[in-house]
Amino acid sequence: MKMTIDGWGNNLRFSSAHFIPELGKCSRLHGHDYAVSIELEGDVKDGILVDYGDVKKIVRNILEPYDHRVLIPTRKTRSVVEVKSDQVIVEYSGKKMSFFKDDVCFIDADISSSENLASLIASQLKNELNVYENLKTLSLTVFEGPSQGSSFQVNLK
Ligand SMILES: [Zn+2]
Repeated sequence: MKMTIDGWGNNLRFSSAHFIPELGKCSRLHGHDYAVSIELEGDVKDGILVDYGDVKKIVRNILEPYDHRVLIPTRKTRSVVEVKSDQVIVEYSGKKMSFFKDDVCFIDADISSSENLASLIASQLKNELNVYENLKTLSLTVFEGPSQGSSFQVNLK
């Protein structure tokens, strides 16, 4: 059995600022409205796969730290990140930007692409869904705006 939860329709959304060094106009600081849709597959137990409400609550908790923040990649392959007391200083391509630490969400990736966000959020959700023994696979899509997104699939067992 498969279950689908649409991120736009269920308010599984976040808005963030980000930049992607060395990628044309994406290298400038800009923002997106993101939505996270998921598909779960597994065995039905007592007539249900999993409670929609429980899954949405888990996803919203995962997304909360991303919302209304600047996404800062911490793998310093394309940008240099330095934390000085309450400031986060980012340097790439001759640019230097400084953000208040509470306004930042650190991302364990080299760039904050929707592909990397899908992979990161899917692994966070996988950890939370381990308690559901009947679930087998998770497919998660991070939409960057309403019509384009990146999907990542992961086995839950
Ligand atoms: Zn972008």
